Amino acid sequence: MSDRVTIVEVASTSTPRKSYRVWVGADGPEFCDCPGHKFVRKNGQRTVCKHMKALGASTALPTAVALAKGTTPTPAAHWDARFRFIEVQERTNESSEWMTTVDLTRFNQLEVN
Ligand SMILES: [Zn+2]
Repeated sequence: MSDRVTIVEVASTSTPRKSYRVWVGADGPEFCDCPGHKFVRKNGQRTVCKHMKALGASTALPTAVALAKGTTPTPAAHWDARFRFIEVQERTNESSEWMTTVDLTRFNQLEVN
């Protein structure tokens, strides 16, 4: 996993008011905290869940990737309500703790005119 990730909340399509958190690195979605991704293995590998797929195909992805790379993203002209930016987390190496470095909760309201 990357050492800098953007955490994006993805609304569940099956359970109202439920959402999962997807970790997005420089190459796209890397992890989701839903049971389908956390606990299901295929040939010893975690599978890509529907939340990672939905985010990966959305207009929110380039913004999440830019934030994970530490570059300034261009705010989307229209935010897809299924996705909510939470924060950027960083760690210095594989064994260190993740720390929140950028709070993105206000980022969701940014609009481009
Ligand atoms: Zn998931």
